Amino acid sequence: MNTKGEAIRFAILTCPDCGFKERVEMPTNACQHFYRCQGCEKVLKPKQGDCCVFCSYADVKCPPQQLEEHRGNP
Ligand SMILES: [Zn+2]
Repeated sequence: MNTKGEAIRFAILTCPDCGFKERVEMPTNACQHFYRCQGCEKVLKPKQGDCCVFCSYADVKCPPQQLEEHRGNP
């Protein structure tokens, strides 16, 4: 979430296998469940309890989660 109250669109995704980092644009209205690592070609999937690969492996959560937190989650 930036200062304007907009969701951050780009995330740095880090592969848990090889550590490869990549800047990825996130879809704002959907959750991305699969991502192929450009370093080792492993297909990343969300960890249990996470809605998408960004919530599991990126430095920021996905836009829907950012908005959710902004509204004040318990
Ligand atoms: Zn990798």
